[in-house]
Amino acid sequence: MLSCREVSERASDLIDGRASWRVRAGARLHLLMCQHCRRYVEQLKLTVRALQSSRRSEPPVDAGRVLDGIERAKHNPHL
Ligand SMILES: [Zn+2]
Repeated sequence: MLSCREVSERASDLIDGRASWRVRAGARLHLLMCQHCRRYVEQLKLTVRALQSSRRSEPPVDAGRVLDGIERAKHNPHL
């Protein structure tokens, strides 16, 4: 079974799915018994997900559209 330190060191690998099955099995067993690491991994998972979703929703197209709208508004005599 992995130690707390090993679990925290490999937590990002575990979340990315890069860890080997042995590490995954050891970590799962550890997490069943160690609330501290369970919380740590959960927190990290949430952070990684938040980062991924914010990266995904970063809108270069929408930003362009907004600028486009501003440009158009400037040239629109009715505004
Ligand atoms: Zn632990």
